[in-house]
Amino acid sequence: MTQLPLRAQLASALGRTAATLSRATGRGDGSVIGGRVGLALEPDLLRKLAQDRKLALVSATNGKTTTTRLITSALQELGDVATNAFGANMPAGHVSALSSAKHAPYGVLEVDEKYLPEVIDTTGAGVVVLMNLSRDQMDRAGEIWLLAQKWRRALAGKPTHVIANADDPLVTWGASTAASVTWVSAGQPWKEDSWCCPECGGPLDRKGMDYTPPGGTVAGAVQAPGTFVSRAAENDWACRECTFRRPQPTWFLDDDAVIDPRGQRWVLDIQLPGRANRANAVIALATAETFGLPVQRALPRLREVTSVAGRYTTVERDGRHARLLLAKNPAGWLEAFDVLDRSLPVILSVNAQGPDGRDTSWLWDVDYRVLRGRPVYVAGERKLDLALRLDIAGVPFQLTDSFGEALAAQPPGKVDVIANYTAFQQIRSEFGRAV
Ligand SMILES: [Zn+2]
Repeated sequence: MTQLPLRAQLASALGRTAATLSRATGRGDGSVIGGRVGLALEPDLLRKLAQDRKLALVSATNGKTTTTRLITSALQELGDVATNAFGANMPAGHVSALSSAKHAPYGVLEVDEKYLPEVIDTTGAGVVVLMNLSRDQMDRAGEIWLLAQKWRRALAGKPTHVIANADDPLVTWGASTAASVTWVSAGQPWKEDSWCCPECGGPLDRKGMDYTPPGGTVAGAVQAPGTFVSRAAENDWACRECTFRRPQPTWFLDDDAVIDPRGQRWVLDIQLPGRANRANAVIALATAETFGLPVQRALPRLREVTSVAGRYTTVERDGRHARLLLAKNPAGWLEAFDVLDRSLPVILSVNAQGPDGRDTSWLWDVDYRVLRGRPVYVAGERKLDLALRLDIAGVPFQLTDSFGEALAAQPPGKVDVIANYTAFQQIRSEFGRAV
């Protein structure tokens, strides 16, 4: 790598000092304050730190922290990788991540959806990974459409290669101005934000299991098991009123396996639970191949990842082992339900602080009926809102004053927990070291 200019070196070094001081005084991991100090001294620092590296930017409403981690683990097979592992996903966090791994030839950065255009412009990243877009807290479809439109503008006219989930119509639209795209069929269980064509506003047709695509086959289907054609077609979509339709994917998530562009099927067998993480893994494998890393070398690396920033870890007290799942928005709750162990009780904890969004009306967007038939405990600042929602859905539950009380009410053994952002962080800090 070429040497950074003196001013950028100084800004980078002072930023790292500020981060160390912040950690030493117990103010978090310091990555944001360190990056801010660096950017204040050298506004062009991010561009300079990004130069000469092979960078991937990862953005989505859900799964960006996990996918960033999976891609990072894969690329470590090739060399050192700079990454913002703790989810500081705005430019100050990116400066901090790149400064703390100055000589790493690779970088994998999680990027907040709203900052993505700016970070593409500043870093000139060669690879951008786009997975899903859905309403987040109180955002509605209109806002995410504007976001996708900004992605389109940022990608147009640049050499950036995009890896995108073709099953998400809005992501497809956001990615389709890019010079080149690897389309991945990663699925889209949450469809409530994509019934309208982003191009013309017309209705989108979703194909059922009995749908036969034009030409009668789906690419890659020839080598795949019989179930594959219907599965892949299940995710197909097209606008009824204009030419906008799902592009042909070359990578497919097929139940517990990935089908690569050569039609070869690989059982994923990753340790992270649930359909959403298998989708993240397929996206990560497609991204790794873009960096020249084949599936047989990347997949073993993905299998080593057991938890990401505290998600899926277990906290223990008095013989109760609580597995923590984070869900921040309606699509995230749907993914968390998919991970739940049906034989276990579940504790739900919802807060409404700044990072969660103060308005909890999104609770009405989630179908809680799937929780019927198992013990459900409700905690968190907005437990009454959640209780009303569960009551209307016909889900029996027990109201508790705190997560601690809910946990103590369990018999010794395992329990699942779904919490939104600050509720999740509170549980992690109060119940100490993850085991
Ligand atoms: Zn249309």
